[in-house]
Amino acid sequence: MGVLHMHTLYSDGTGTVGQIANYAEERGLQWLIITDHCHLEAYERGEYGRYGNVWVLIGTELGDEDLPNHYLAYGITELPEQLDPVQMVKDVTKLGGFGAIAHPHEKRDEFEEMPPYPWTAWEAPFDGIEIWNQLSQWVEGLTHTNKYRRFLHPLKSLTGPDKATLRIWDELNLRRPVVGYVGVDAHALDYPVLRGMFKLRVFAYKVQFRSLQTHLLLPEPLNQSDFQIANEQILTALRNGHHYGANHRVGDARGFRFIATQGGIHYHPIATLTSGETIHFRVKVPMCARIHLIRNGQLLMRVRGRSLRYESSQPGIYRVEVFRKATGWIFSNPFRVVDSAKCG
Ligand SMILES: [Zn+2]
Ligand SMILES: [Zn+2]
Repeated sequence: MGVLHMHTLYSDGTGTVGQIANYAEERGLQWLIITDHCHLEAYERGEYGRYGNVWVLIGTELGDEDLPNHYLAYGITELPEQLDPVQMVKDVTKLGGFGAIAHPHEKRDEFEEMPPYPWTAWEAPFDGIEIWNQLSQWVEGLTHTNKYRRFLHPLKSLTGPDKATLRIWDELNLRRPVVGYVGVDAHALDYPVLRGMFKLRVFAYKVQFRSLQTHLLLPEPLNQSDFQIANEQILTALRNGHHYGANHRVGDARGFRFIATQGGIHYHPIATLTSGETIHFRVKVPMCARIHLIRNGQLLMRVRGRSLRYESSQPGIYRVEVFRKATGWIFSNPFRVVDSAKCG
């Protein structure tokens, strides 16, 4: 497992690549992707590769405080020429990469110094969407009265993805595959308190690495010695939606599976299947939890336990949400079941 979306000293974070990799190793993570704003400086300095037991990959977050519409771009080694949102999305594809719109429904209104950066260019042909951003959710609920409690218990505010984001994600998948990601958006910022007399570190990297983790579904174990191979394995799985996101604070999500079987063949999300022949959906979770099977944004089946089974031949977007004690835990990518009558 690994973590996506974080900033170093090269943009508005406070840690070096090496320090961040060490924190990830202490948390038992296998990989991470650095996404500084609007540049690939860490890549150009050759700061990717192996740090202890962790693979460090370099991407970028296109957009910054002056440029709304932030796009997380992976698998590129040069930057798009334009930062117009539609054009930059197209350019990332042209450069051989892929990306996800970051914190698409960000809402912040209590602190003037922390304005929101929602996504507005919905016509852009983006590949993916960040369905859950740890920092955004924390800031969204922040008020002048609860801020010290929130600083002390930073991960308690992590309840689940924004409902508006999930709704639009389901709608998008009816038209084309759109991969869902979770992101920590780690900066480890210093926040001035008591009129600037002290600085409080908001979320050490290590704290955030305990929150939204990404679990890859790899056909072979992640290579531990060759960066080119590991890089390709990680990026291919991320690009194709062969992964799921989990809030680690709720529990270790290793072992979660959402499988669809049709005609004796097993599929993992994201896969596009054809309706008609019965599809057997199976969900397995590593601990007792509340499992929701969702179709086109609506709850189709709810089970409390460690597994769920469902049969269907209906078209639609099927995905799984798992909760423990009313807190969001695991969010799968979807199966897209398209109407067989509409296919050729
Ligand atoms: Zn951003
Ligand atoms: Zn960011």
